[in-house]
Amino acid sequence: MSDFTGITAVVTGGAQGIGRAIADRLAADGADVVVGDLRDPTDLGPNQRWVHLDVTSEESVAALAAECGDAVGVLVNNAGIMFEASIADQTVEQWDTAMAVNLRGPWLMTKALLPRLTADGGAVVNIGSIEGIGSNPLHTAYSASKGGVHGLTAAMAVDLGPMGVRCNAVAPGWIDTALNREYIDRLPNRDQAVAELGRLHPVGHIGDPADVASVVAFLAGPDARFVSGQVVVVDGARTSKLSLPPSLSPEA
Ligand code: NDP
Repeated sequence: MSDFTGITAVVTGGAQGIGRAIADRLAADGADVVVGDLRDPTDLGPNQRWVHLDVTSEESVAALAAECGDAVGVLVNNAGIMFEASIADQTVEQWDTAMAVNLRGPWLMTKALLPRLTADGGAVVNIGSIEGIGSNPLHTAYSASKGGVHGLTAAMAVDLGPMGVRCNAVAPGWIDTALNREYIDRLPNRDQAVAELGRLHPVGHIGDPADVASVVAFLAGPDARFVSGQVVVVDGARTSKLSLPPSLSPEA
């Protein structure tokens, strides 16, 4: 466990899901957490406050930065969106929105907070995805944006390292958030889908938001002082497991 006492941490998209678990974890470890999100979660715990944020808007990002005091020790670029559409059906507007939130957002946030990050030897953690490494069907924009986040992470580590700022990414696999739960709950064969999802993962289950938060806390903290430019996959070994046809699988 890292001690973030006296450190300001900014978490984008921190009102719910993975971002909320990250905000809770950093606050529990002593940080003063600024939760930047489109909407007010209203029930934040101690050491946390909400500031309205739209990561696609330069004005909104600048307004949040102005709320953060002189130094920011941790920036977690977590806000992200996903939609499903074949490349034939996708609109240019959908593509641009995915890029504006998922890829330009982390860049814009880091750019706006840079003077405050360098003031405190800060750490940036971007939330990428295993879909920045592979892809599910109908996710061209999402996968491209997350692959971009991984590339951005390497480039920021190179450029910001000499300024005393480390930058890493976490690439989560299937994490139990409201978004995923809604999707699963809509299925007629929900229980079967849950069981099959578990079997996809060598550890036997999908992840919790807290599983991502603990890795973020490590990467943001002093124990990771020599770790920068990395993408840490948090997926219960899902991407380590090669697929076999059912006729060859010992699990079939
Ligand atoms: P959620 O949709 O549960 O939460 C995302 C939060 O970000 C919401 O509060 C959302 O607000 C907010 N948000 C969306 N757009 C903006 C914006 N323009 N500016 C500020 N805040 C915004 O997502 P998850 O917790 O599931 O995912 C969090 C991150 O983790 C994302 O980057 C996602 O791509 C990534 N990820 C998630 C995985 C999963 O299995 N859940 C797997 C791999 C990666 P609102 O609801 O009002 O839109």
